[in-house]
Formats: sequence, C-alpha cells, structure tokens
Amino acid sequence: MSQTANLSQIYLDANATTPVLPQAAQAAMDAMQDLFGNPSSSHITGLKAKNLMEQTRLRAKTLLGTGSGKLIFTSGATEGIQTGIISGLIKAKTQIQAGKKYTLLYGATEHKAVPNSLAHWNEILGIHAEIKSIPVDHTGELDLEFIKNEVGNALMICTMAVNNETGVYQDLQQLEHCIREQNKEVFWLVDCVQALGKRPINLATTSIDYAPFSGHKLYAPKGIGFIYIRDSAPFTPFIAGGGQESGLRSGTENLPGLAALNVIFEMLLDKDNSSFYDVDTLTDYRRQLSHSLSQAFPDIVFNHKFKNSVPTTLNFAVPGFSSKELMDLFDAANIRVSSGSACSSKVTRSFVLDAMGLPAWQSESAIRLSFGPAMTQAEIDTACLRIRSAAKALTNSCLMLDDSQVLQDRAPLDGLVQLRSGSSCTWIYADLKSKQALVIDPLPELEKRIDTLLQCQQLTPIAILDTHGHADHISGRVGLAQKYLATQKTDELGWPTETDILTLADETYHSLALGELTLIKLPTPGHTDDSISLLLTSDPHKLTTHTRYAFCGDTVLMGTLGRTNFATSSAFLMYHSLKQINRLIGQQTLICASHDYNNEFTTSLSAEVIRNPLLQAVLSGVLSESQFAARKADLDANLNDEVGSEILCGAYNTDCDKAQIKEYNSAGLKLRLSTSTNVKILDIREPHEYALQHNLDTTSEPSDIDNVLNTGINIPMTRLVQFIQEHQSDKESEWVLVCRSGSRSMVAAQAMHRLGFANVAHLKGGYALSS
Ligand code: PLP
Repeated sequence: MSQTANLSQIYLDANATTPVLPQAAQAAMDAMQDLFGNPSSSHITGLKAKNLMEQTRLRAKTLLGTGSGKLIFTSGATEGIQTGIISGLIKAKTQIQAGKKYTLLYGATEHKAVPNSLAHWNEILGIHAEIKSIPVDHTGELDLEFIKNEVGNALMICTMAVNNETGVYQDLQQLEHCIREQNKEVFWLVDCVQALGKRPINLATTSIDYAPFSGHKLYAPKGIGFIYIRDSAPFTPFIAGGGQESGLRSGTENLPGLAALNVIFEMLLDKDNSSFYDVDTLTDYRRQLSHSLSQAFPDIVFNHKFKNSVPTTLNFAVPGFSSKELMDLFDAANIRVSSGSACSSKVTRSFVLDAMGLPAWQSESAIRLSFGPAMTQAEIDTACLRIRSAAKALTNSCLMLDDSQVLQDRAPLDGLVQLRSGSSCTWIYADLKSKQALVIDPLPELEKRIDTLLQCQQLTPIAILDTHGHADHISGRVGLAQKYLATQKTDELGWPTETDILTLADETYHSLALGELTLIKLPTPGHTDDSISLLLTSDPHKLTTHTRYAFCGDTVLMGTLGRTNFATSSAFLMYHSLKQINRLIGQQTLICASHDYNNEFTTSLSAEVIRNPLLQAVLSGVLSESQFAARKADLDANLNDEVGSEILCGAYNTDCDKAQIKEYNSAGLKLRLSTSTNVKILDIREPHEYALQHNLDTTSEPSDIDNVLNTGINIPMTRLVQFIQEHQSDKESEWVLVCRSGSRSMVAAQAMHRLGFANVAHLKGGYALSS
C-alpha cells in the first residue's frame, strides 16, 4: 500500500493533514455518485445513506470503546471542541456559587483551538472564570502537582492526548487519577485529534467527558470529524436546526466524508489489514529517519524525548539554521515538512517548545516531520536518501562542513556575500584569485556560518572589521579574529595597526590591499564617535567611478539615517560625514549598511536622495549643520526604540514606497519567453535548493515550465548585491526573478526596481504554483 502513489513528493506533514487514502476517496466518490441520499429522507436512497452513517457510527464506537456514550459527527475537531466546551460551561454556569472563585484549566501545549474557545465561551456565557494554563515539564508532560492544587476550583479542564507539534503523549490514566482525586465533578475534555490510529483509546473505561476527533488527520477528507460525549456528561447542541443527529447536531450530514471515515474505521478495526502499519513498524520508521537526520546533520537536536512521543512525529532543530532555511531545503529536496512554530505574522517561535522550557534557538528553528500509519517503507527509504542529499547540498554550498576536503562540487566564491540575522547584516568579500577575504560587521550568531564559509572556501581573512561599536548587539569579531588573525594588532574595530597610507586630494587615508582591490577606511563619526565607512575600490584614484561597495555601517541606512541620540552620537559630525561620503563615492555606488529593516538589500545615494528629504537637503547644501541637527533630533525623538527585541539603529519609514512589480504566472512567462529574446530568468534560491531540485531522484519528466526555468541563472539572495553591482549597465533587460513560493523573488525584484532595473518582474507563486 502506498500513502501517495507518486514518490516524487515525500509528504512528511501528516500532523497538519493527510492525503485521502485511495480506498477512502473511492468510498467518498461512491457516496457522491450513488449513495448520495439525505439520511433524513425516508425513501430507499435516504435509507441507504442513513445505513451508511449508522454503520460508520457503530464502527467508530467500537473502535473507541465508547460504551453507552454518544458519538456525534461534526465538521472537524474545532467544532467538536466548541461542542464539548459549550456543553460543559453551560452546565457549570448553573452550579456557580456566588463569591466563589472558579478556574478553567488547559494544558500549556494545547492546540490553540482549545484555549481560544475556552476564552471565547467564558466571555460570551458571562462565566468570567479565571483561565489558567497548566505548565508542562521539559518532556512536555503536564504538571500533576499544579493540577492537584488547582483542579478543586476548576469548572472545566482541557488536556490533549497527543501533541501535534512534538507527538508527546500524556499518561491519561495517571492524569485521570490526579484530576478525579481532587474533583469528581469537573468536566474533562481530551483533544484526541492526534491520537487516532496512533494510541490505544478506550473511552468508556475513563471519566473523560468530551473527546473531539478530526478525519483529515487520518486519511479522511477535510470537513468531517466526530466527538464522543460520556453518557453522564451534560450536552447542549452547538448547532440547532433541522434536528439531524437526533437533534444533537443539526445540518444535513456530510455523507461523502462519512463514507471515507467508514473505510478508515474498517481498516483500523481489521487487525489483518495491510494499509496501516503497527507501532513496531512505525517505531522502526522513526529510527531510520532519526538515524538519517543525525548522519546528515551531526549537530541536530531533537526537541522531545522519543520515549513519551508517538513514533510518527519528529521535532528537531539544527544549530545555525533557521526553520525557514530548513523548510526551503526540504522543499527543494521534495520532502514536505513543517516549521515547528506557529508561523503567524512575526511570531516565529513555537509556544509548545517554549512551554517545555527549551532554549529560544530551538524553539525558533524547529522543524516538524510527521507521517501517518499508512507510510510505506519505500517512502521512508526515499525520504532518508533525500535527507542525505539535502545535507550534501548544504556542504557543497559551504553552509556545513564535512570531513572530505574535496572541493570539486563546490562553486568557488568570488565577490560579495550578504548574510543576515533578523534585520542585521554581515558582509563578506571573497577574492577568488588571492583567496583572501574580508569580513565586515560579523554578527555573533553568524560566527559559525562565517567560519564554515571561510574554511570551506579555504579563504584567509585579511581583516575582520566592525563599522562601529554596535549598541544593539555584541560583535562576533573577537572570536573570529582570535581564530584567524591571532597575531594581527588592530584597533577596537579590528582595523590593523599597520596599514598603508593613501593620499587622495591632499587627504590621507588608511588602506588595505585585498587581492587587486583596495579597502579604504574613512572615519564617518555621527551615529557613534567611532563610526567608519569602508570603501572597496578597484582604483583608489577614481573613487567616484571605481568604488564597488561602500560599507557605511549605520551612517546611511536604507530609507533613513543612523540615529544620533546615543551618548557618543553627534548630528553635527554626521552632517560632515554624509558630505564626505557624497564627495568620495559615486551616485550609483552600492551602499552596504549594517541593518536592513525593510528587506531592501542595498542602496545608493541616487536612490536615497529621492526618498530621504533630509539626506537630500544635506547633500544639496540647503541645510546648515545646526538645521540638520535640529531636524535629526526631531526624527530621533520619534524613533521607536525597539522593534521586538531589537534596538533600532535608525528611524525607519514603515510605509516605504514599494514598487508595483510585474507578475507572471507560468503560462504568461512561457509565452513571454517564446516571443522575446531579451528576457532573462534569475533563480534567486540558495545554491543548495537549486542544486537539489536539479539533481532530484524522481522519475517524472520535467514539465514545460521546468524547462523554461532551467534556462535561468542562479543568483541567491545572499549574492544579489553583487549581481546588482555587476549589472549596473544592464538595467534595461527584462529580468524575471523566481524562487520557491514567490515571496523572495518579490522582495528582490522590489530592491532591483528601486535601484533602476526598470523591467524587473517575478514569477507569482514561484515554483510551488508552477509545477
Ligand atoms: N487539535 C489538534 C491537536 C490538532 O492538531 C488540530 C489540527 O491541527 C485541531 C485540534 C483542529 O482540528 P480541525 O482542523 O479538524 O478543526
């Protein structure tokens, strides 16, 4: 039996949802075409439908050991959770005694459907009980001591059988003992969504009052679920209407969904069935996957203990890699996994792992890999193979080191790399010919990645520099300098004490040679008194035309200027620094800042003066230094000191003008390429993603659009600034940017557009919607 007939995609995100098993899909199709009757109709077609429904209910009741409890079909677990909570709370409200304090308890790692529903109905029903979350320990197990102390005053307690992010299960017997010893009356809801088919369930032998389930987590379609209600538990219908489900849940029943569930129940009940594998096999799958993961990523950390987790969920983090990076990597390897965090807006951490007290980095970079009991050995084998290929691709793109010093698969680095962490940037310049490198503003969290890159590319840094003493973070410079430049004598920012002196237009500057290039140090105080700018040029005597990059730290930021309200700041000095930068570099020279608050990569004076009136006024000479200082003080006074945990280094304009970028869908792009020779594809995924996709072990033929996209060149986001620099004279060509989902390509296209690439476009929805 195969979970998915097509091995080209390995689906390891079963805790989010599962594909519908072919047998279940067929049953649903039959129900739509033949058994389509309304179970409430009394003619033969209706009776057949009703019979199917009752057969499904009977199977569910047998499977779950519901005894005399009720089992009602719902649209899914979220509806079941509402039903249970409303039923419990409406009854509890009638028992409330004036002056007594009550609580509603829920496990800290519960799916959000539970605490959000508790809060909602607590408010709507005017109960106003205090809602308390039950802590878990580092293994994810509920704090029984807490429950013992609190459950006496609780109207309702909600726990989960198996956690959806980690697979951690609770010992329900022990939990029941703890709850009932203190409170026989409290209504107990157990979210059993992730337990179905993975843990033994025998509901009538427990005092669980409500147990919601969902079909789409176990190979049935979305839109069908069910809830168990203990016979002695109170019940209030959540949906009233035509009286279906004996008046317990109105609305014409979802017969196709029920037909599919019926097949799943039949398989679960049949011990000899060959579609679902037993716990031993699933545990062996986990062993194989965890072994491959550990081989592929030797530093891997699993975020839960296997001993109290179902074997079908693995949650892990790899030091030095964000969950976004790993998601992109797995997607390129054609393995679907999920980031372990609740990815809503700026929330990038997992509240489940936070509740377990795991270190922040583990919670931020968690990846969840989950499969269902119909997973096949062939799929596991392919997954393991691809995990190893993914890791190999990472070593080839110098993001991970392996033991072999073989460089043949690795593209040699030549030029500028931009690494980012949050909104901060580190810049590395590699000179291929001399094998020398320059590291600017190394962030401590990127230290390992920088070190790996230098080792992997066999580069020797000539200097590791900061553009100023950073207020918002400590520099990663010292650790790297100790490793690579232990004997070099430098100032506080890492500038070597012994350097060349250059005289340009009667002014002297310190400089360093980097291969055939020259790095010039320019004191640019203002943001801080020690701020410097670093100009990398191919001809120091023609700076305006030959400066490739100006690393200006926080002096010129994209869309703004660095703040000047620190103790060591001076707006007066910044005024002169800006003028000096303007005198020395060209209007198109790319300015590489220490921060990128708005995903803009790089900028130039010509791009900045258009949108930064203060800079424009300084450079055009209409402002005196004191006028500048006054305006700057106003600007800084309105500066939001922090965004999240970051200290802002400059006021930034949140409504920065974003250009309208031309968007293609895959058909439109194909057409455009067939009619024009001046269109160029730029694949901006990271090299490992690009390599993986091009070396996949699939048997499927590349699609038309794959063939089109394969004509492109691969310029990853980390190298985009260099690409812009090298194509300053080719801004008229039509560049079409592509990536995995269309979000990176959009951001990069906007940056290019702002810097004068008039015809830049991107592929909407990226590869995800094109293949
Ligand atoms: N509870 C848990 C543990 C879940 O994993 C989910 C789904 O992610 C739900 C509840 C909600 O289920 P449904 O999608 O059926 O509403």
